Amino acid sequence: MKIKNSFRNNLFLWYSIIFIVFTTLILAYLYKREKDYRLSKLNDELKTITDIVNNFIIVNSIFELSDYEITDSLVNLFPQAHLRITIIKPEGGILYDSFFRDWKNMEDHSGRPEVKASVNTGFGTSIRKSETTGQPYYYYAANYRRYVIRAAVLYDINVVNFLNASKFFLLVLFLSFLAVWATLLFVTSRFSESITKLKDFALKVGKNETFDFKTKFPKNEIGIVGEEILEIYNNLLRTKNDLINEKEKLFNHLNALDEGIAFFSFDKSRILNNDHFIRIMNMISGDLRIFPTNVFDISELSAINEFIAKYSDSEINQADLPKTEYQLNKDGRYFRVQCVIFYDKSFEIILSDITKIGKSKIIKQQMTSNIAHELKTPVSSIRGYIETLMNDPGIDQKKKKYFLEKALAQTDRLIGLINDISVLNRIEEAGSSFKPEKVKIRKVIKEVCENFKSAIEAKMMNIEMDIDGEVTVIGDKSLILSVFQNLIENAINYAGEKTTIRIFVYNEDKKFYHFSFSDDGVGIPPEHINRVFERFYRVDSGRSRKSGGTGLGLAIVKNAILLHKGEILVRNKGEGGTEFLFSLPK
Ligand code: ADP
Repeated sequence: MKIKNSFRNNLFLWYSIIFIVFTTLILAYLYKREKDYRLSKLNDELKTITDIVNNFIIVNSIFELSDYEITDSLVNLFPQAHLRITIIKPEGGILYDSFFRDWKNMEDHSGRPEVKASVNTGFGTSIRKSETTGQPYYYYAANYRRYVIRAAVLYDINVVNFLNASKFFLLVLFLSFLAVWATLLFVTSRFSESITKLKDFALKVGKNETFDFKTKFPKNEIGIVGEEILEIYNNLLRTKNDLINEKEKLFNHLNALDEGIAFFSFDKSRILNNDHFIRIMNMISGDLRIFPTNVFDISELSAINEFIAKYSDSEINQADLPKTEYQLNKDGRYFRVQCVIFYDKSFEIILSDITKIGKSKIIKQQMTSNIAHELKTPVSSIRGYIETLMNDPGIDQKKKKYFLEKALAQTDRLIGLINDISVLNRIEEAGSSFKPEKVKIRKVIKEVCENFKSAIEAKMMNIEMDIDGEVTVIGDKSLILSVFQNLIENAINYAGEKTTIRIFVYNEDKKFYHFSFSDDGVGIPPEHINRVFERFYRVDSGRSRKSGGTGLGLAIVKNAILLHKGEILVRNKGEGGTEFLFSLPK
């Protein structure tokens, strides 16, 4: 409550002080004017009296006769009460005094200020207390050459009398004070409501407390200012919340990135960083207890310090921000380090683990050279056969047929190779964006068996399939077909004659069917078993080539299953033969 009205209380206090000071000044001025006026009036009055006394002395030759007693008769005629007339010699001796009969024995008056002044300048005045009555007297002394006549009256211009006389004027002043007070009360009550609301608002906002934003300000100037301030505050609040949201979004975005990002101010203090930044810093520095601000102490990142130092004193062009980028290798991993300096000299550091990219680049390079190598063999054999046929036009029919059949076989190998490469490419390019469809596995296997019917019969092989007709997986039909095609083809090619292929679902969970594909053939030598899924990896390359193998079959199987988010592993069965265990999604 006290705080609430302090504005108005203050206003009234100042108003009262100013009013009192102003009133006092006016009164002091009026008092002085009154005093001056009275004095000049008194002077005139007393001068007239001294002149009359002088005339009386001359007319009655009092000075010549030294008969001053008759002056009493004149003094009694003057209407002023307490009028005292004194006639003094210029040297100070008393010739007559209307108050004291024994004037001849009165003390010398030459020292009285009014007498002194009158001797010097013709007249003199003085105010002082009378030694006899104790009351203040006004003395007026005029020099008439042979004597000085002094008239004195009671001096009654004091403050109390003046104030008494100015009673009416004071009353008017007091009433006008009250009137102004009342007006102020009325005017300020409206302003103080606005100001109180504004103050409440400022206090609450300052303490981060909630403020009722529906509060209406009174319709006056301060109210309008208040509403404007509220509006500005609301806008600021909205902008602040938007910024917090944007920052949150940015932070989530940064955390979703694979790169480590950190922002620093010009003095290298951290503003923001994502978790990856710390993780990659750990890997680069080999220190697990490192903080983002220590990034500048890591020797592998010292180039960043140099880069920032280089631009510390130069102007930054906003359209062309300075950037640096380099790669480093630590413990077999590859990292890319980037730094960008912004126009306000703050900067960001981006750390990326590019080991994977590096690896897949190496794999791609190997793949390309492998493909070139694999293509070279059939292409150069075909060329050899064609050259032989061309160089020897008289070649006999039997030989000619032999060469042509060989060329055809190589062409088939070439087609097989190109097909496998294109399947692998398709898997890589598809990512996980292929169009999933329902694929009935029993139907797929039957289709593959049908395709290899003659080969299976030639090798006197047996196929045991224990898969329910309802087993349906979700995936790319042609890829799932090539999974079983490659597995069956491999069994035909490598397991051996009179062997049996067994296919069944050995487990099923919410998301996957788990398949077992096995044969009871020769199996894969243990030293090779971990590598059979690699591209172009063959256990026995001569045998594989002879059987038309490209070395890509199991790579296709593995990649197709991984593309479907399944898993695959291979093992040799205890009783002999190879078993592939893999899962495909429901
Ligand atoms: P290829 O085109 O040579 O068949 P794959 O990638 O399909 O290439 O197979 C890799 C190697 O794994 C083959 O060279 C073969 O030696 C071996 N292999 C694959 N399946 C079997 C199997 N069922 N039994 C024995 N060895 C196999």
